[in-house]
Amino acid sequence: MDQRKDKNGRSNLETNIPDEISTDKRGGHKVRTGRKIVDRHKLDQVQVSESGEKHPNTFTGHTYKNKGEKFRLDGHKLLYHLDIVNAWKKGERVAPISIDMGLTKFCNTACIYCIGVTQGGFSRGSMIERDALMRFIEDCGRLGVKSVAFIGDGEPTMNPAMYDAIVLGKKNGIDIGIGTNGIELDMSRAHDILRDATYIRINLSAGTPKGFKKIHQSPVEKFDTLCEKMASLVKIKKENDYPCTIGIQMVLIPENFGEVISLTELGAKLGVDYLQIKQCSDTEYKELGVNPADYERARDILKKAETYNTDEFFVKVKWNKIDILSDTENYKGGFRKYDICYGTPLLGQISGNGKVYPCGPFFEKQRFLMGDVNKESYYDIVKSDKYWEVQQDIIDNVDVHYDCTVGCRQDYINKFLWDVKNPPDHTNFI
Ligand code: SF4
Repeated sequence: MDQRKDKNGRSNLETNIPDEISTDKRGGHKVRTGRKIVDRHKLDQVQVSESGEKHPNTFTGHTYKNKGEKFRLDGHKLLYHLDIVNAWKKGERVAPISIDMGLTKFCNTACIYCIGVTQGGFSRGSMIERDALMRFIEDCGRLGVKSVAFIGDGEPTMNPAMYDAIVLGKKNGIDIGIGTNGIELDMSRAHDILRDATYIRINLSAGTPKGFKKIHQSPVEKFDTLCEKMASLVKIKKENDYPCTIGIQMVLIPENFGEVISLTELGAKLGVDYLQIKQCSDTEYKELGVNPADYERARDILKKAETYNTDEFFVKVKWNKIDILSDTENYKGGFRKYDICYGTPLLGQISGNGKVYPCGPFFEKQRFLMGDVNKESYYDIVKSDKYWEVQQDIIDNVDVHYDCTVGCRQDYINKFLWDVKNPPDHTNFI
């Protein structure tokens, strides 16, 4: 026997401790339940109980209880670009990782919750010119921009150059996304979209022709046209094994609470990849009259919509945004969880008339105009002092609690970047 151990295998160090502080000699340590403490040295070999539940400490591999989320629709993905975040933190003049870009400043529908119409200049005839758009895409390739989404401002399909821009984007190594009402989608270019775009998201906020007319202020026949186009997209994608994700986005307002389930059923029937349901963002002047408390009434319907989730059809309610105003005491007042907007250099936004601004809610605010891709190279704009002076103006002078729309596009990344910029003490104790 090892002389340093007693007959129970305990070391001298354990046995030689004085009686008055010895747990054993004081009758053992009783925990609040009074239950016997399991001897971890002698774990039994039973791996599954009669009820089928695994025992702890069996180490026989994983049980998968967390369903993976294929798309992160209610959050951000900056964690996957920490090299660029670190460069930005060091003060380097980095190009945006991603850009949201309008391609027109007008639309073929008139959705009653449209925020684009509040951002000024929403008149027929203004759009990004073909040559400028192609030059922009090539500039993004030179700058190392990773993705461009043709979303926001006017309807992108109204710009006929959109389809060639998708193809050129792919050639330049840029992921392209499209957010469209889909009504005028040119189906002769469906293969180009589905082959070369990363996603196409149809903005549809009603599941019935009647609801469509009310919410999108469009003729009911257009609802049928749109459904046919979505069905064709799904069919072409499947037949050709194209990678493009096809989704539907519903903007939720009290007027369409009654459309949630019909739209969910429609999405499932059409075979699209996902339906996301988001809150309606309001402007700094509350022109759309969004009352966050109203969403409470939709909670049960939204929970029901989530039950349609399958491996093939992902239903995502953006609870983080819907609950935004009841999130914290701060948010209840419409204020934010951070005091400075840092997100605009990493997520760029460009208006449908080609003008470059730090973000959508600042479109048409001349003070923040950084350049115009219809007139100049985007590469030069991003490298210019003017561009960085505006970024600094945002940091120095914009009061996010008062000057900004609640839940703007950069909100998710702003929370993260605020943390990056304001680390707590003791960060090495991770
Ligand atoms: S926080 Fe304000 S400045 Fe920053 S992106 Fe949002 S609306 Fe624009």
